[in-house]
Amino acid sequence: MTPRIRISNTLVLIVDDDLVVQMQLRHAMEKEGYQVMVAGDGKAALDICMNSLPDIVLLDAVMPVMDGFVCCAQLHALDPNISILMITALDDQDSVDQAFEVGAVDYITKPIHWAVLKQRVRRLLQMHWIMKEFQYKVEQEQLVAKITQKIRTSLNLEQILSTTVIEVRKLLKTDRVIVYRFQPDGSGYVIVESVDPKWDSMLGRVYKDTYLSDKCSYKYWKRDVYVIEDINNAGLSPCHIDLLNELQAKANLVVPIELENNIWGLLVVYECSKPRKWAKSDIDLLTQLTYPLIMAIQQAELYQQLEAANQKLQQLANIDSLTQIPNRRAFDEVLEREWKRLEREKAPLSLILCDIDFFKNYNDTYGHQSGDECLKEVAKILHQVAQRPGDLAARYGGEEFALVLPNTNTTGAIYIAEIILAYIRTQNLIHESSQISSYLTLSLGIATIIPQGSCSPKWLIARADEALYRAKLTGRDRYAIHE
Ligand code: GH3
Ligand code: MG
Ligand code: MG
Repeated sequence: MTPRIRISNTLVLIVDDDLVVQMQLRHAMEKEGYQVMVAGDGKAALDICMNSLPDIVLLDAVMPVMDGFVCCAQLHALDPNISILMITALDDQDSVDQAFEVGAVDYITKPIHWAVLKQRVRRLLQMHWIMKEFQYKVEQEQLVAKITQKIRTSLNLEQILSTTVIEVRKLLKTDRVIVYRFQPDGSGYVIVESVDPKWDSMLGRVYKDTYLSDKCSYKYWKRDVYVIEDINNAGLSPCHIDLLNELQAKANLVVPIELENNIWGLLVVYECSKPRKWAKSDIDLLTQLTYPLIMAIQQAELYQQLEAANQKLQQLANIDSLTQIPNRRAFDEVLEREWKRLEREKAPLSLILCDIDFFKNYNDTYGHQSGDECLKEVAKILHQVAQRPGDLAARYGGEEFALVLPNTNTTGAIYIAEIILAYIRTQNLIHESSQISSYLTLSLGIATIIPQGSCSPKWLIARADEALYRAKLTGRDRYAIHE
């Protein structure tokens, strides 16, 4: 694309202490269609440039306060892209050399040859715009590269989308950039946003407006960028204008994000303060971004599915398939974790090991399947007893169960053990071949410790096991405590 000189947008700064020359220059430049600003010396010129940068400066060399050479050097330092044309009566070799040294791009002498000046200015502006266009292209490519890089290194969709809207807004110097996400029911919401603080935030806002999903949305299916330069002069339907007003939009660019033949969402750029004639390069940028964005979304969604599947697997791996309560693996993990936590907290950790009494006899009498049902029943009871958040009832193995009770001292653990024994009794689970009762009973071993580095979870398990052994030895259907 050949850059066009945007004449009406072009800002020319005239710096000359001679009021007559100032006026003549202003007249000539305005006749060309440029916007003109005037300064009487170098210092005033710099002050102007601090606020708004001109595209070209016509700079006199000899002036009071600050001469043209010093001013030229400082303007160049402020922005090396400003074209500075020196206009002066000095035409000795030294002055010419000095002008170029301090950053002037060209040099013409007084008296001014007007036709030459106009051509020079035109040529310099042309170069200036080519440079600007080139720079913009480079910035655009850098942005696309940055987003592509982000996609490669991140699987966090929100992070990728946030980077996109922030960078696009920066580059397009616009008021609001959002990504709008469609929902299966046709509604949608603003998933990420970058907005000038002058305007209301739309982040998280839900739009149930069917405009976006049905009759007008066919426009998005063309897969390219949908351009509105002025919402009030674009032949839009009233419902569309209402929606854009709600979004405080005066102009916008919409890019559909299409995934597997569905519109996943929209990347939308809004100009809020006034209509905007979008440049082709603005549109090109958005087109270029679409593909990496689609890739990012696909990758992130795939990753999310994998995560969910992994979580499900993890859950399955931690649940005992017969009793549906946590298994030995989960028990080990929780005990280890709580041990470390309570070591830091210097708080007690109790463990109760529970073993069904004469369970071999139970199987022998009622069959293995009834034995399984009985295990499920006991698991349910223990699960109900382990009520506090952090408590865990797990199947330790065979007909043995374990209760992990964080922040629980011996008194607390005894209290729980008594509840278990009482609960089992109220269930009246028949066990005719038990040698101590006609109902099912449990023996429990309790151990409590304030975890510390010199010990380990294994130590706690061994102590609870010792206590359990003593409960068995002293008659079963009871608890014993590790002293
Ligand atoms: P004690 O009072 O000394 O604990 O006697 P007990 O018979 O309960 O102990 P023992 O260790 O001799 O027997 C445990 C029984 O638990 C033997 C085994 O068949 C049974 N068992 C272990 N796992 C399962 C299971 O998943 N289902 C069934 N039905 N029985 C199981
Ligand atoms: Mg046993
Ligand atoms: Mg047993």
